[in-house]
Formats: sequence, C-alpha cells, structure tokens
Amino acid sequence: MKILKTQTLRGPNYWSIRRHKLIVMRLDLEDLADKSSNEIPGFYEGLVKVLPTIEEHFCSLGRRGGFLERVQQGTYMGHIIEHVALELQELAGMPVGFGRTRETSTPGVYNVVFEYVDEQAGRYAGRAAVRLCRSIVDTGTYPKAEFEQDIADLKDLRANASLGPSTETIVKEAEARKIPWMMLSARAMVQFGYGIHQKRIQATLSSYSGILAVELACDKEGTKTILQDAGIPVPCGTVIQYLDELEDAIEDVGGYPIVIKPLDGNHGRGITINIKNWQEAEAAYDLASAEAKSRSVIVERFYQGSDHRILVINGKLIAVAERIPAHVVGDGRSTIEELIEQTNRDPNRGEGHDNVLTKITIDRTSISVLERQGYTLKTVLRQGEIAYLRDTANLSTGGIAIDRTDDIHPENIWIAERVVKLIGLDIAGIDVVTPDITKPLREVGGVIVEVNAAPGFRMHVAPSRGLPRNVAAPVLDMLFPKGTPVRIPIIALTGTNGKTTTTRLTAHIYRQTGKVVGYTTTDGIYINDYLVQKGDNTGPQSASVILKDPTVEVAVLETARGGILRSGLAFESCDIGVVLNVAADHLGIGDIDTIEQMAKVKSVVAETVSPDGYAVLNADDPLVAAMAERVKSKIAYFSMNPDNPIIQNHIRRGGMAAVYENGYLSILEGEWTLRIEEVVNVPVTMGGMAPFMIANALAACLAAFANGVDIEAIRQGIRTFSPSANQTPGRMNLFKLSSFHALVDYAHNPAGYEAVGGFVRNWSGEKLGVVGGPGDRRDEDLILLGKLSAQIFDCIIVKEDDDTRGRERGEVADLIVKGMLQEKPDARYQTILDETEAIETGLDRVENGGLVVIFPESVSRAISLIKKRQNHSDS
Ligand code: ATP
Ligand code: ATP
Ligand code: MG
Ligand code: MG
Repeated sequence: MKILKTQTLRGPNYWSIRRHKLIVMRLDLEDLADKSSNEIPGFYEGLVKVLPTIEEHFCSLGRRGGFLERVQQGTYMGHIIEHVALELQELAGMPVGFGRTRETSTPGVYNVVFEYVDEQAGRYAGRAAVRLCRSIVDTGTYPKAEFEQDIADLKDLRANASLGPSTETIVKEAEARKIPWMMLSARAMVQFGYGIHQKRIQATLSSYSGILAVELACDKEGTKTILQDAGIPVPCGTVIQYLDELEDAIEDVGGYPIVIKPLDGNHGRGITINIKNWQEAEAAYDLASAEAKSRSVIVERFYQGSDHRILVINGKLIAVAERIPAHVVGDGRSTIEELIEQTNRDPNRGEGHDNVLTKITIDRTSISVLERQGYTLKTVLRQGEIAYLRDTANLSTGGIAIDRTDDIHPENIWIAERVVKLIGLDIAGIDVVTPDITKPLREVGGVIVEVNAAPGFRMHVAPSRGLPRNVAAPVLDMLFPKGTPVRIPIIALTGTNGKTTTTRLTAHIYRQTGKVVGYTTTDGIYINDYLVQKGDNTGPQSASVILKDPTVEVAVLETARGGILRSGLAFESCDIGVVLNVAADHLGIGDIDTIEQMAKVKSVVAETVSPDGYAVLNADDPLVAAMAERVKSKIAYFSMNPDNPIIQNHIRRGGMAAVYENGYLSILEGEWTLRIEEVVNVPVTMGGMAPFMIANALAACLAAFANGVDIEAIRQGIRTFSPSANQTPGRMNLFKLSSFHALVDYAHNPAGYEAVGGFVRNWSGEKLGVVGGPGDRRDEDLILLGKLSAQIFDCIIVKEDDDTRGRERGEVADLIVKGMLQEKPDARYQTILDETEAIETGLDRVENGGLVVIFPESVSRAISLIKKRQNHSDS
C-alpha cells in the first residue's frame, strides 16, 4: 500500500457539507487491491486483537459490531483503514465518527476520507492506520509497543496543537452561539465574526482591553496606590531596590510576618509569604530580586486568610474561586514524596496549563516550603495531616480551586466591581486574601493583593470542587451584545464559466450601495477599487483575507473548484450562493472524472447557503437546477427564457427569479415583473449581442436583489459596468482597429467557446479565430475545441500556450486540428505554435470589416499587441 497524497479539508466540502474537518488520503492499495479482508488469512482475528474497541463501530450495518462483521464477511482495505484511522483518534481522546471511502477511476486507488479533531493528529492517524493494517496483513499482528507509541504520539500532537484552556472555553461558547471564529497567524489571536464586525481575543485579553489598564494591572505598586487612594483595602507595603533598605522596610510595614515579592512578577514566581525572621527575609529578597525585571522588590505585611480569585467581566462579578496551594494529605503510611506521586496520578492533572489541574513538581521551592513546616520528602504524614508544597495558590504550581461564587458577601461584590472600574479592565481577575469571603473585607481584615489582566478561566470553568461556571458567555455577551451583527454578507459564486465576470459585476453593484466591498477573483483580491494581491485567488485562503479584513462590509467571493477540492470552503455558511453553470472542463483532475461529479463539487457552494439565504441557480442548466433538491436555503432561479418551466413553476409558488424578457433584465417575484434595465443599456452584454453575458448579468442582479440590495443600486451598477480591458481583462474585450475589430477572450473550454460563438455568429464580416487550449485537459476536450472552432470561424489559426502543462509541443495543436477537420474537412486553417506570431498573423490577415477572435494564454500580452496597432493607426 502506498499513500499517494494527503489533503486536509477545513470547511464545507465535496464529501460533506456539515463535517468540515476531514482528511482525504489518496491510497494505492497495490497488492491488496484485489484482496478482500476475508481472503487474508488471520486478518480479522489480528485486527480484533490489536484494536478490540473497533467493535463499537456500527458501519453500514447500523449496529454494534457491524463493522467487524463486514471485515469478517470481506471488505476492501481502504474501508478498513478509514475505520482504523477513526478508532486510533478515538483512543487518543479525540472523538470522531465520520468516514467515507470511494474508489477512484484508477483501479486499486481509493480516496479514504475520515474526520479529525486536530489536523496533524488526523494525518498521523491515517499513516498509522496504513502501517497497522499492513503489519496485520504481513504478520498477523501489530506490535503492542508500536501501538502504544502511536496513541501517545497522537495525544501529544493533540495537546501541542490545542488552544490554551481559557481560549478554548471562549471558542466553544462561540461555536455554541454559531459565531464564526478563526485563528490569526500571529500571537495566538482568535478572531470572532467577519470583516468589519470582527472582535478579537488573545487568551482572555480582548479587543476592549485598554493598554493603560493592562499596564496598570501589571504594575502591582501602581495598582495598589490607585486602589488605596480610592479607599480600597490593600496590603500595607513598600518597594525597595537594595538589600540594605530591607531592614527599614520591614519596620515600616509593622514587622514580621511579611511577604516579599518581585514588583513585576506573575504566576507566583519569586514570592515568599509568611516570612518570620531575618534569615528567611534575606533569602526571600534574593529570590524576588532575581525574578524581577526591574530588580525592585515589594515588601508587604503578611495577611492571614486564604487566597481568592474574583473574576469580573464587563463590569460585573462573574465568578469567585477560593484557591488552595499545592498540598498532600497524609494517610499514616506514605512519605510526602509518595503522596505527591499519588496525587499526580489524578488524570485531571496535566503539565502546565493543558489540563484542569497541574501536576505538583518537586523543586527547590517545594523543598524549602516543606522545610519551613518541619518536613522533608521522606516524612511520613499522619492520617489527615496536610503538608503544603507551595506558599501561593496558583493552579499552575499544583494548587486547587473551589467555587465560592454563591458565597461572596454583597459588599465584596461591590468592592470588586469598583476595583475593576478603577483599573479600567474589561476582563479582570482580582486576588483577594481574606479569612472569610462571606464577610465584608473591612470587617475581617481582608485585602486586595493585586488585579490581573488576562486572568485564567480554568479555575472557574473546572473547579476542583463546587459548581463550574460558564465564564465565556459574558465575554461573548460583551464582544457581541444582543442585536449586534457578527457576520457580513457573503456572496459566493461558482460555475464552470463566467465566475470572474459575474463576481466583478456583483461587487460593482454592491459598490453602488456605498459599502466597502471585498472580492476575490482569478485575477486577484480586491477591496473596493484597490488591488490587495494579484494572481489566482479563488481558494479559501484568499476568501479569508477578505473575511479577516476589518474594513470589509460585504464579501463577494469567486469560489473555484480547485480550492473546494483542496481544502473546502473558508466559511461554514454564506448568504447567497450562486451557481452559474456546470460544463465539461477540468474533468479528470483531482479524481473528478464526470460532469455529475463536477456538479457535486459546485453544489457545495449552494448547499452551504444558510437557511434564510438564497441559492441562486441557473434554471437553464439541468445540472445546476437539480441542486435545488439538496439546498437548505431558499432558492432564486435565473433564466434566459421567461417561459422556462422551472421558472414558471417557481414563481407560481411565489418564488423569486430573474429572466431576460422582451429585451429587459427583469426580476420576477410571484406575479410581479420588476424591470431592471434594457440590455442595450447594459454594456457588459455588448448591446445584447453576447447572450452568455446576459446570463451572467441576470445572476449578478438576482444575487444582489435576493440579498436585499435596492433595485436602483442594481440598475446603476449594471449600467456603469463595462467589459473594458481595464475592468475585466480577457472577458469579451472588443477593440476597434483601423478596418476591423479584435476580440480578446479567456474562453478555454467548450462551453466558453460556444458562449463566445453566440456573439461571433452575430457578426456580419469575416470571422477569424486564433485558438488553442490548455494542455492539462483530456484529448477529447481538445478535439471538441477544434470542432467548435470549425463551426464558429471562417478561418482559423491554431496556436499553443507557452506552458504546455505536461504535453509535447505540438500535441495540443494536433488534437485541435483533428477535431476541426472532423467537423469541416475543407476548413481554412494554419498552425502557428507561438502565440505572439499567431496573433500578429491573424491581425495582418483578416479582411476589412472582419473580426479577429483571440483566445490567448496571456491576456495582457494579446491586449498589448492589439494596442500597439491601435496607437499606430491613431497617429
Ligand atoms: P498570580 O500570577 O497568580 O496572580 P503573582 O505572581 O502575580 O501571582 P501575587 O498575586 O501578588 O503574585 O501573589 C501571589 C499570592 O501570594 C496571592 O494570591 C496571595 O495568595 C499571596 N500573597 C501575596 N501577597 C500577600 C500578602 N501581602 N499577604 C498574604 N498573602 C499574600
Ligand atoms: P476561470 O475558471 O478561468 O476562473 P471564470 O469562470 O472566472 O473562469 P470568466 O473569467 O468570467 O470565467 O470568463 C471566462 C470566459 O468564459 C469568458 O471570457 C467567456 O468566454 C466564458 N464565459 C463567461 N461567462 C460564461 C457563461 N455564462 N457561459 C459560458 N461561457 C461563459
Ligand atoms: Mg496574583
Ligand atoms: Mg475566474
């Protein structure tokens, strides 16, 4: 077996609209291609032994053990690998269920598709599944050590890739609210919402966290001063820079016990509390000053009580947790070292921040904390006796948290909310030391030790004891208060031909509404009239450039087959999904071999429209019209023929449509006809002479109308959008030269040739074609281009692209000529492989009043050749 290619899908896709995270592994079964699992001796038994939990897979039989029955009766290896890849992920703690396996048109080569939670782990699971099955085939088993390593590696990949625990809770809440999110490429920032409505977070900092507030919170001394001035109880303390100031400082704060900590520390690093004598104080000073970036050290009175964290979001107290430092409880038998080991065996304890709790570590700090309590690691504690391993209660050093949200005294709530306002933070964690949180701080001598920006959520979401609190909800309530928009309208367009033209036209219509329009096309990414990036930008990466742009108010996205197949769509739903047409092009590429399969690819766009949006479908194209059955949204049809039965039927039921009637582009809604404009006033239709452009214009108008754009804006848009070489290079660019015309068009498939032919046939003079075709198309497609050329033109020059896309030079031209002669044995033609030479010859040779139609590889080169002659004839 050999893995030929692995693709990672991240959005709605060919295999599933709903399951976005899929691995597609193109697998050559080689020697196992013709072997069913029941024909491989010992395979079933081996698989059950290595992976007994696969019993849970129902598979098509719909019952427990269903998949294993299929293995026993005989199924093909691709299908087994799909199930094994799923099961491996499952065993590594990543719940997945969806899978599909289909043979490609190459015998023995399969596409194995399965769900993932983490991309890297998903790809790993695919490779491991192949390895595991190969081993069972060859040896009847898979070594236990290998298997365990695979699961451990999968767990690692998952742990390394996952978001931090606080970020993850916010992202989960966003998903529950159907708020789209995406990772930005720097600083682990997450974007919620699209375009102009986006908001960001980074851990628990948000778009609203002000720099003044964050910096103030990071300055413990400054924070205390501000709070003290406002009458808030804070520890009595002072800041020193040198050891020889320490003695006076201790006196200033009222003598022992004291606390020494770095001025600008966090996570409890460098802090010593409850210092009772000079020797401890000196050591604590060294520890703190080494941790402090500023070398400055805080000396504070030590306050009795336990540590509490109060979380305040958007001015409101959300949760309170009491934190207890890392500790172990004696059992009368075990040493402290053994107790630590036992405590760390709790599956809830992980490394660093990646689990609910953190493992307790044995280090210099813990040993010295033990010493101060009179213990060593070898001490055996009595039943119930507690030994602390840390002074401070941070979860990240092994502490635990108990929810106390319902216990806090109302006066303390008032103080907490006031404190956060004084600092100016949107999301803040207040550290309070008090013997009793249920009593007012003032009454029991509690103090506010500090205020944290970017507080961790872990202790509130998953407290060791008490009620878990949904603290992510108020964050999203703050970022997106009820009734505020999260998304921008997304208009996605696909089809075999006319995508770029229709995308540009649609964007131009939206421009008339005064909104900032971001759009992607084969030529580049644009925002309003400006180019963001040149080149073929019709995939999900380009779409997300627009969706991430904070200025964009409307996204119009050309969505091509390549990107859909490669990684799926960039958005989980859109407002308008336009499918222009499905014609034979690109067949045989990416395992899409039939036009029906291609229709399924394009249908992804229509099926991704949200239920209250519209799929805009071409009623004249049966493959497109048939997509109506699969969409979840409302439907609007367009047609060149108002009598098209689909249109008639649809409007009879009150539906919406756009048609070409009596020379007008019109919207039909129920019984009413709303005329937008006469085609003679729509430059893109070349005065109505280019029928396919009328179809594109109908689609653009309908898309905008269905999305609520004013009819006036639509009219204004189609009147002012012209097919000039500047606005839409390569799309029906007509040039007038001294005694003839030249047309440059990008048509490169049979449907495109026919479309242009529809215009050319309306031409009265000689029709000369300069034709070619892309080398990566099938022979029969190129032959068909030849046939069509013979039908359309009086005289033909056959040329080739500079890039032959893998074919021998001359091969494409031969195939085109072959088709041409099949259609018209006496066709007038000449083969000139070089494109420039071919164009020049065509322009030289055409008769007066004639039309030279050029289908170039390089549109800009063709246009500049023509312009050179225009300049000549001008002078
Ligand atoms: P974190 O990052 O967890 O907020 P930190 O490094 O910023 O910690 P502080 O919050 O200043 O440090 O102190 C850590 C803990 O030490 C406090 O939560 C509190 O339990 C204890 N502590 C600090 N100062 C005092 C004090 N003056 N009296 C009693 N306990 C104190
Ligand atoms: P690509 O797949 O190269 O991105 P596209 O779908 O974006 O193509 P356009 O660039 O808009 O299509 O148009 C390319 C050519 O396709 C046009 O110049 C024209 O020849 C032809 N074409 C445009 N619209 C249609 C249509 N509705 N039906 C058939 N052919 C069309
Ligand atoms: Mg703190
Ligand atoms: Mg295009």
